[in-house]
Amino acid sequence: MSLSLSASAPRIPPFFLNTDHRQRCLAQLRSKHTGLEKYIYLNGLKERDPNLFYEVLLGNMLEIIPILYTPTVGDACSNYSHIWRRPEGLYVTIENKGHINQVLRTWASGQASRIAVVTDGSRILGLGDLGANGLPISIGKLDLYIAGAGIKPTTTVPICLDLGTNTQRYLEDPLYLGVRRKRPDAAEMDEFMKEFMEAMKDVFPQLLVQFEDFSTDNAFKYLDMFRSQYRVFNDDIQGTGSVVLSGFFNAARLASSAAGTPISEHRVLFFGAGSAGIGVAKQLMSFFTLLGLSEDEAKKRIYTVDSKGLITADRPGLQEHKKYFARTDYDGSALTKLIDIIEHVKPTALLGLSTIPNAFTEDVVKLLAKTNVRPIIFPLSNPVSLCELDYSDAIRWTNGSVIFASGSPYKPVEFEGKIYEPGQGNNMYIFPGIGLGSILSKARHVTDAMVEQAAISLASSLTNEEKDCDLVYPRLTRIRDISAHIALAVIRAAQKDNVDENALFRGLSDDALLEYIKAKQWQPTNIQSFPRL
Ligand code: NAP
Ligand code: MN
Repeated sequence: MSLSLSASAPRIPPFFLNTDHRQRCLAQLRSKHTGLEKYIYLNGLKERDPNLFYEVLLGNMLEIIPILYTPTVGDACSNYSHIWRRPEGLYVTIENKGHINQVLRTWASGQASRIAVVTDGSRILGLGDLGANGLPISIGKLDLYIAGAGIKPTTTVPICLDLGTNTQRYLEDPLYLGVRRKRPDAAEMDEFMKEFMEAMKDVFPQLLVQFEDFSTDNAFKYLDMFRSQYRVFNDDIQGTGSVVLSGFFNAARLASSAAGTPISEHRVLFFGAGSAGIGVAKQLMSFFTLLGLSEDEAKKRIYTVDSKGLITADRPGLQEHKKYFARTDYDGSALTKLIDIIEHVKPTALLGLSTIPNAFTEDVVKLLAKTNVRPIIFPLSNPVSLCELDYSDAIRWTNGSVIFASGSPYKPVEFEGKIYEPGQGNNMYIFPGIGLGSILSKARHVTDAMVEQAAISLASSLTNEEKDCDLVYPRLTRIRDISAHIALAVIRAAQKDNVDENALFRGLSDDALLEYIKAKQWQPTNIQSFPRL
């Protein structure tokens, strides 16, 4: 008998209802050998059965998030034109200039849309200009909003602005998906961005826009240009600042109580003064100003170091972004070596945003441990191969006294019979809650106070068990609950700043509002789904 293609629907196999299809999916996922294969598998699962995809994600976040987001999403982006299966997300290209509004209207969810993650592909993770291959970064980030805060999947809009690419190998790749041209000059890009943002507000009146992985200068520029006009924030700048501030609150509390010194007496040394270093340093000012210090006093507690050493105001040709924290109280000969700078500054905290692997050497770490009962060390450069300090070295060189948080994940370390757990300054703690709070309160803008209150809420979310382990961040598995609390803090801050447009919330107590927020968190609906029968 020959095999024929039947037009009738396949039958649900009898064993199906007796087995857990989620376990089958996990087994299939784990049978894939490379991260990229796992990414492709999950992407297919999401297309076949979105409910099941999100159920598997929610039940196994620690395993699956590194596939949907960093590090594996980096491979997915680099290879996107080659692994592409089907249209997903929305491309707006430079050739759409003049009729962007019509292009946005093709998006099926239209007015129901609540949040867009928008990248121009120009600085994807640490991988540089990936052009139109940047789309998976927007898709992945929105999956984290869905998993972390319970944003409804059908209200999310992943967008890649395809403005060309300056990466020659993509322009020469016959499979490259994007527009084959170099990126526009600043004037043309400004015009495009203005038309785009205006059209976004017109087509999606309730939308929150999150900018992601724009090249550094453009990230600062477009945040400044649009934040007082539209509902927009930049996670690379504001989310990072907020998550580090939050970890620092808890680290400072631990360090000060161990030393028996007032919490306001910290001195923070930033090793690395690029956009991330200066951005985080500015957000960390809140730590001191919230404790009652003036802006000037707060600034004096922060020291910055670049490749030439301690940044001082008398240095000729100092770049604009380094001037704010440049020291005016040091006029000795240039301090270039980190160990000498530490001798001079006597910091209580050392933060690394330098991209220099192992820059925090044994003598540096031991000196910090000598001058502080509990030194705070946050080596924040990503990925792990660029991290300034390995966690096990940090523990060994300080005899376990270090308070540590890194940008990339490290495993717990056993030292002299005790297990030590590292912190990870992962933006995922913050942005889902900022998103949910902004959406629910219909905030017209995302203000500095909303970002600051998100950090405070995260810092105060530790359970007693987490505090007993000396953690500076809560466990990521509790993210939904944490995001609901952050959303509450963000809504209250929006109300104080008078940017909220949901008057109903003003009459609710915190408990009632929290309950409302939790009830709004989307859950996958089908426990045992079997698609499209
Ligand atoms: P960047 O613009 O390249 O800045 C690097 C900074 O480090 C510059 O100020 C540079 O000095 C300085 N530097 C380089 N070599 C040095 C040396 N030998 N000694 C002292 N300073 C040195 O990079 P970025 O965009 O700011 O990002 C920095 C890192 O932060 C990245 O690894 C990124 O992954 C990480 N990051 C982490 C998070 C997170 O954990 N959540 C978020 C965002 C970014 P010059 O100015 O003199 O060149
Ligand atoms: Mn990013």
